[in-house]
Amino acid sequence: MTGTISSTDLFSRAQQVIPSGVNSPVRAFGSVGGTPPFLTSAKGALLHDADGNEYVDLVGSWGPMILGHAHDAVVEAVREAAGRGLSFGAPQPGEVSLAEEVVHRIRPVEQLRLVNSGTEATMSALRVARAATGRDVIVKFAGCYHGHVDALLAEAGSGVATFAMPGSAGVTAATARDTVVLPYGDRAAVQALFAERGSEIAAIITEAAPANMGVVTPPEQDGIGFNRFLSETAHAAGALLISDEVLTGFRASAEGYYGIDGPGAAGVTGADWAPDLMTFGKVIGGGLPVGAFGGREDLMGLLAPAGPVYQAGTLSGNPLATAAGLATLAGLDAAAYEILGSASRTLQQLVADALTTAGVPHTIQRAGTLFSVFFREEPVLGYQDAKAQDTEAFTRFFHAMLEGGVYLPPSAFEAWFVSTAHTPEVLDRIASVLPAAAAAAAR
Ligand code: PLP
Repeated sequence: MTGTISSTDLFSRAQQVIPSGVNSPVRAFGSVGGTPPFLTSAKGALLHDADGNEYVDLVGSWGPMILGHAHDAVVEAVREAAGRGLSFGAPQPGEVSLAEEVVHRIRPVEQLRLVNSGTEATMSALRVARAATGRDVIVKFAGCYHGHVDALLAEAGSGVATFAMPGSAGVTAATARDTVVLPYGDRAAVQALFAERGSEIAAIITEAAPANMGVVTPPEQDGIGFNRFLSETAHAAGALLISDEVLTGFRASAEGYYGIDGPGAAGVTGADWAPDLMTFGKVIGGGLPVGAFGGREDLMGLLAPAGPVYQAGTLSGNPLATAAGLATLAGLDAAAYEILGSASRTLQQLVADALTTAGVPHTIQRAGTLFSVFFREEPVLGYQDAKAQDTEAFTRFFHAMLEGGVYLPPSAFEAWFVSTAHTPEVLDRIASVLPAAAAAAAR
């Protein structure tokens, strides 16, 4: 025991004063059962809990910890920034540098505004899209999660999927009416909706590659990727495309998923296209609360104070957060993406081998370095497929992995996250636990 208070005691105390004992639903282990370990420290690919256990981490704080935990350069940058002041509520140099980094790295982003979470980023992007078009309707896809924005909770992924919720109570009928939910990847459904209601639609919002119902690779048809199809369909009707790269940004590839299916990417031919607005979070904050939305300069110019779209934040562009984000992006060079790609591929192979040997039906899907494991044989093309997996097999697998010292996302609907700290030795530790976990899943 390193701490004097166990996770069990902390969880029961937490439940007295915090709803369900957690500040974000999936953390409660509601769908897999059991007490969540309360984490006390982390370094590299390893986590430590209040009970003295060590785990190999495959959650990475749901994406931000792409260089591993407590990375020396990131911690030093935050420490140095903290010594200069925690928050100014006024312009500071770090926010300029972070915005420049994103604008330089992500082609469609001409201007960027920093916020404090991915939720704020998508919420603000919707507002800009509605203002720009003078229209109300937003199109989203079932199983895509864009944060807990009222208008975007219908048939959302992530925790909404984990707990099999249709959406959320507390969202007004008027708000829900302005959101149309379509099956992911269904071009005919998109075309039919635009044929009928095209002139009412402000924007389509999509995860650049869905990762919150597990990872779904955007489908190609006749050499045209799904995102390009969405961009062309939206534009033909005077609507916008918002590409949510909160999760995929700076992770799926150096240029996010746009670096994989955008013009100029390896193997991509044909027309130039770009989302009008993009949203980011997670990696660009390096573990501190940061989100961002950006895109075409004419659209971003609609924001106050120059334009009529109000959007603001007491802590937006916070100096500690921008220091962490900048240090993280500085660590993400070509060599870092090589390591991430290799760790991701090795882990996929190890998991596939273990599950195949144990006779567990599964399919592994990827979007660049991002991947997830579905406990069903057939490919997962959308939310209905994702929901049709054997979540009980996942639960047995999850607990066996945890017992063996590997911390997976506590839900069958989430991506698995590696970092540059997932060295071959760390992957060996995971490999040693996989046979027992696969056998547990097979029971
Ligand atoms: N968009 C996507 C694609 C996400 O994966 C998430 C969070 O997981 C969000 C938006 C919301 O981000 P946040 O949790 O920072 O509000």
